[in-house]
Amino acid sequence: MKFKIVPSTRDGRQQLLTTYLINDTLAIDAGAIAIGLTVAEQKRIRSVVITHAHLDHVISLPLFITDLFDELREPIKVYATPADFDALQQYIFTPRVWIGLDTMKNEHTELIAHYPIKAGETFMAEGLRLTPVPVTHTILTHGLLVEDDDCALLFTSDTAATERLWEVVAGCDKLRAIFIDVSFPQALTELAHVSGHHSSATVLDELSRMPKEVPVYAVHLKPAYRAQVEAEIAALNHPRLQVAEVGREYEF
Ligand SMILES: [Zn+2]
Ligand SMILES: [Zn+2]
Repeated sequence: MKFKIVPSTRDGRQQLLTTYLINDTLAIDAGAIAIGLTVAEQKRIRSVVITHAHLDHVISLPLFITDLFDELREPIKVYATPADFDALQQYIFTPRVWIGLDTMKNEHTELIAHYPIKAGETFMAEGLRLTPVPVTHTILTHGLLVEDDDCALLFTSDTAATERLWEVVAGCDKLRAIFIDVSFPQALTELAHVSGHHSSATVLDELSRMPKEVPVYAVHLKPAYRAQVEAEIAALNHPRLQVAEVGREYEF
């Protein structure tokens, strides 16, 4: 399975906004989807999964869709909980800030098709099996287990310490990597706690609950603290934990 953190800053090395690109055709979250990809890359994406409707995970979805206006012959599939899709419709796809959902169509097709998702209910998208699992954030947010026949990747999305996720992947023999939110440095652990994230102090404890032997990649590092979090994770010197490189194409 191919995986890339889509860049969202001018230097191409930071994750201000969140989008993960899987196998070129599936995007997890839509923060950076219209920002850090070439037009050719954007054109290949057919499905977008929304883990929660926080701005850094959805902000460029409307621009992505309208940039493809002339191209689309069938809608972009947007997988999201009914509550998250309702939030998109009320606050983003509205004539007050952009274009209303009811007018998002070209001469061939509607531009968006909503596919509702629900905790624990596995669905297929772009040939992959995806299972949403609720995590610990300020609003209902889903981590995602993404599987093909040989490989599985786990994305925690935004979360503080959580349990259900580790129960779901216990015994998953084909799990190749875990991508975990480490937003903040140790000094901001309290802020991480109240905002539903990990810091480089709390991630070690969480590692002890994860399946053994699976490499763990820190993601969602806030740009302002990236250098600090990178240094702190390096100092932990944990054999399974490293920071994922933004923009690099990984193959699992
Ligand atoms: Zn969030
Ligand atoms: Zn976030």
